[in-house]
Amino acid sequence: MKVSLIIPCFNEEGNVFPLYEAVERSFRGTVSDYEFIFVNDGSRDGTPDRLRELVGTAKQPVKVLNFSRNYGKEAAILAGLAEGSGDCFTIMDGDLQQSPDVVVEMVRYLEENPDCDCVTAFQENRNESPVMVFFKDNFYRVINSMTDTEFVNGASDFRTFRRNVRDAVLSLPETSRFSKGIFSWVGFETHYIPYTAEERHSGTTKWSFSKLWKYAISGIISFTTTPLRLPLLFSGVTGTAAVLTALFDKKSKDKTVPAILGTGSLLLLALGVLGEYIARVFQETKHRPVYLIKEVLDNREP
Ligand code: UDP
Ligand code: MG
Repeated sequence: MKVSLIIPCFNEEGNVFPLYEAVERSFRGTVSDYEFIFVNDGSRDGTPDRLRELVGTAKQPVKVLNFSRNYGKEAAILAGLAEGSGDCFTIMDGDLQQSPDVVVEMVRYLEENPDCDCVTAFQENRNESPVMVFFKDNFYRVINSMTDTEFVNGASDFRTFRRNVRDAVLSLPETSRFSKGIFSWVGFETHYIPYTAEERHSGTTKWSFSKLWKYAISGIISFTTTPLRLPLLFSGVTGTAAVLTALFDKKSKDKTVPAILGTGSLLLLALGVLGEYIARVFQETKHRPVYLIKEVLDNREP
């Protein structure tokens, strides 16, 4: 089974060669057919030079895609997936936080389990600050309460999957991409294996808190329209409050409070109705396929 390794790189000059060598070491004797697809996401350090050197010297097939600027990790993953020619695909970071030994484990699992389409690594224990862990845990709680698509807490982009999953992921043409959601949305049989993130080999993280915050909001907006529907819920609450205050506050002649609540409720209702329409327009603009077929059985065709 040929493996395409998709490696997004943004300012990873110190990691290019160590990563290549680490993969070669781990794969020796276990995975024989594989290719590297490095996506240089507009690096401003020596990454493009290191990659050029690697293409010139590497024994294994290496492809490099140099972006015209920094588009973000999601764009790099997409480009790598479109370019790979393997039977299965692995997305791994370019900083050696994700051990190639785990990739060997993933590939072996796919080989031994023909019904499984995707192996996803998840972090059992996050080696992160308590604040980060708090925000990440709550992000998963919020997004899972709003959408039917399942977001597994701790599941990373570090995964290996068959070509059918790759094709399904590429069939979603949306430009605002959130891989964790996309992989859940396309479905298929997924097996989770635990892993521990290593220390970065060189360089620093490219995700600031504000970048992560924007990414989390983008994930929520891409996968749920619940926020647009909130005014309908509030309208129900204020409407009920208006009726209750009008009925039970008989002593007071002043009906200002129920009037304000009633008007507010009507306005929220109007906003909620608008939200429902906008939500549908928004869903349609994503042009997601209505369904994905995993397999067709037909006794007339071999
Ligand atoms: N990355 C990228 N484009 C970006 C930011 C990050 O291609 O705009 C790559 C980065 O080079 C690394 C991977 O995405 O290979 C994960 O980034 P990082 O290690 O900084 O994230 P962390 O592990 O700290 O969550
Ligand atoms: Mg990292």
